[in-house]
Amino acid sequence: MAYGEIGLDYHYEHSPRSDQKIKFRAMLREARELDLPVIVHDRDAHVDTLQIISEEWSPDLGGVLHCFSGDAAMAKSAIEMGFSISIAGPVTFPKADSLREVVKQIPIEHLLIETDAPYLAPQPVRGKRNEPAYVRHTAEAIAALKGLSVDDVARITSFNAMQLFGIGTLPERGQITYPIRNSLYLNITNRCTAACVFCVRYHTDFVKGHNLRLGAEPTADELIREIGDPTRYGEIVFCGYGEPLLRLDTVKTVAAAVKQRGGRVRVDTNGHGNLIHKRNILPELAGLVDAVSVSLNAHTAEAYFRISQPKFGIETYEAVKNFIREARKYIPEVTATVVSAPGIDVDVCRTVAEELGARFRVREYNEVG
Ligand code: SF4
Repeated sequence: MAYGEIGLDYHYEHSPRSDQKIKFRAMLREARELDLPVIVHDRDAHVDTLQIISEEWSPDLGGVLHCFSGDAAMAKSAIEMGFSISIAGPVTFPKADSLREVVKQIPIEHLLIETDAPYLAPQPVRGKRNEPAYVRHTAEAIAALKGLSVDDVARITSFNAMQLFGIGTLPERGQITYPIRNSLYLNITNRCTAACVFCVRYHTDFVKGHNLRLGAEPTADELIREIGDPTRYGEIVFCGYGEPLLRLDTVKTVAAAVKQRGGRVRVDTNGHGNLIHKRNILPELAGLVDAVSVSLNAHTAEAYFRISQPKFGIETYEAVKNFIREARKYIPEVTATVVSAPGIDVDVCRTVAEELGARFRVREYNEVG
């Protein structure tokens, strides 16, 4: 349930702007009292819309800016106040570069999709009467901009809508496998030997619309069964809501089964594997793992200790670097990653990765999965 549409329309101006602003404020207050999310209409009134929302804002006010037509700065301000941004057909229009920039810059966790039917039919049906079936074209445009599949966009934006409006049934059980793009991710443990300050596990059970909070850790057999034919995917990725190499034997058994069936295997790890098992485990992964992605996370041992809070102490950073160095001997593709979070010197991290002979990738602070 929601309260709306409410807002400002300076395009048609069916009533004086001063009256519209008074009503908009009153309705925002009423929605807050009723504890309902608001659906905000803003046509050619971006400045006043944002100003009134921020002046009336409190933590119990939220909702969606529907059929969004503002710029990325406005979208970010609204998101900081807990609002979602709803994208309609215009994102497909040739001249809508500004709206496409919004989609690129805003994490998909804050986006919804809508038709605004019967108006604003997307390309290639622009000009026709809009209807729900056409929302697929909008989803396709967003998928292309975000580097996701249409299924990902459908799942994630549906999840966002369910959360915002309190509708539908969210998955209650944690998934042991979950597709994103053309990869299948394996969620084999929720345990970890780090406690990174940016770790999404502390804020939500969900990543890209998938519930990753496990009731119990899956067995190798369960994982192999659920993977099925691994060649249906670009790669099978050990990742999830925890450190997969805590379960080294399971990783080895499942990776061997995937390789035997012609699949490609990647492990996303915090690089603590040798500390966890008190031996060099990299030779054991040779021939089983095609790629490893190691969270370097920081440019110095002190910064790493502060950001990743490893259970092995200040020496962990050096151990992670050694893990990357050693991985290069046994695994064809080794990538060091950092999250572009405050306090992390990405350029120095890049140099560290180069010195270790690894590829380097920066992950956006607010982009997960
Ligand atoms: S290593 Fe990964 S799972 Fe572990 S705390 Fe850090 S971000 Fe979270």
